[in-house]
Amino acid sequence: MLAQSHRKDAFIEFIKSLLAAPFVLHMRDDAQRRLQHYGEVMDSLSQMIHEHRELAAREDPRGKRRVSRLARLVPEIGDFFTELDMRSALLEYNAAYGFAERSRVAPSFNDVRLVLNIAQLQAITPALRLMTFDGDCTLYEDGANFDRSDPLVGQMIQLLRFGIKVALVTAAGYPSAPEKYTERLAGLQQAMLDAPDLTDDQCRSLYVLGGECSYLFQFTGKADGCRLRELAREEFMTSEMLQWSDADIKALMDAAHACISSFVQRLNINATIIRKPRSVGMLPRKTRHDLDVGSGRRASRRVTAELLDELALELADLDTGPISLPYTAFNGGSDIWVDVGSKQIGVQLLQAYLSTLPEQTLHVGDQFLRIGNDFATRRACTTLWVTDPAETSHMLELLLSCRKSN
Ligand SMILES: [Mg+2]
Repeated sequence: MLAQSHRKDAFIEFIKSLLAAPFVLHMRDDAQRRLQHYGEVMDSLSQMIHEHRELAAREDPRGKRRVSRLARLVPEIGDFFTELDMRSALLEYNAAYGFAERSRVAPSFNDVRLVLNIAQLQAITPALRLMTFDGDCTLYEDGANFDRSDPLVGQMIQLLRFGIKVALVTAAGYPSAPEKYTERLAGLQQAMLDAPDLTDDQCRSLYVLGGECSYLFQFTGKADGCRLRELAREEFMTSEMLQWSDADIKALMDAAHACISSFVQRLNINATIIRKPRSVGMLPRKTRHDLDVGSGRRASRRVTAELLDELALELADLDTGPISLPYTAFNGGSDIWVDVGSKQIGVQLLQAYLSTLPEQTLHVGDQFLRIGNDFATRRACTTLWVTDPAETSHMLELLLSCRKSN
C-alpha cells in the first residue's frame, strides 16, 4: 500500500470505490439502469463538492475551518474552484465511450479521470480567460517539436481568437535563449503568421513560462515576426521571488546535486547529471548490460520507473537546512529534475500578471501524481489530467464546441 501510494490519486480512488457498488449490484441489468445508478452516485458527489466549497468559503469566527464530509472521506482533498455537475459529465462521457454498456469491466481509474476532466471543462468554459499547458506528453510527444500540421496548433490559435490568454508552462529552462523555445514551437509561430484574421493583441496573448516559473517569454505581433521576447524578472515576479538570493538558490541546487550524486553512486547508475542555474537533472545513459557480463566488473543498474520514483521522493524530502525556497522534484518519465519554484507559483504569477482569477484559469498536464510537476497547479486553478496530446486535443474539441454554442 505504502509502496504504491505515490502512484495513486486518493479522490479518483474514492470515486472508483463508489462506482464499484452499482457496477456489482447491477451487473445483470441493462445499460440504462446502470447509468441511472451511476448518475445517483454522481449527484451525491456534486453535493459533497458543493458542501466542501461552502465550508471553505465560510469564515469561522474562531479561525478554525470545519472539516467537510468530503474531506473526512478523502483527507488529501484540495480546493475546488468551481461547482461540478458530475452527472452531466458522466452522461457526456457515456455518450462518447459507452461506459454504462460495460457489465464485465468495472469502472476504472481512466473512466473517473476522464469524467472529472469533462466536469471541470464544462464548469470552467463560460468563464475561461487563461489556459496553461504543460509541454512534453501534453502538447507534443516527449522531447518532440510542435508540428504545424498538428490539430492542436489550430485549436490553440482558436483559443487566441476567442480572446483567451494561452501559456505553455514547462519545466524546460533555457534562460535568455528564446530561440530554443521557438524551435520547439515553430509550428505554432508559423500558424500565427499564416492566420490573416489573428490580431497583434491576440498574438501577444501567447506566452511561454519556462523553468516552472523562472523565465517568461511573450510572442510579439506579426510585424515583428511573432518572435519570443523575454520579460524582465521585475515585470512578472512577485517581490518575494525577487528576494530569493543567488546564494540560497545555489545552496539549494548544491543540496539537490549532492543527493542525486550520492544516489547514482550508491545504486551504481550510469547517468549524466546536468546542472543549470535554477535546476539540476539526472539523465540515465543507455547502457549495454551484456557488455559487462563475464568482464568481472559489476554492471551498472537498469533504471526502472520505481528507481526514478525513489529518487524523486528522496529529493522531495531534501534537507535544505535554513533555506526555505520552494522547489519541485519530479520524475519526468525517463529523467529526474529538481527546479527552483513550482508550476503552482508559475500559474499564480501568470494570473497576477494577466489579472485573472483561479476560477477563470485552466491548466492541462500529464503529471498529476505526487512525483509529477503538474500536481502543484491544483492549488492554483482548475486542472485537466491528460495522458497524451491526442487527449489534450479531444478536450480542446469539447471546449471549443461548448464555447461556440454559447
Ligand atoms: Mg509533461
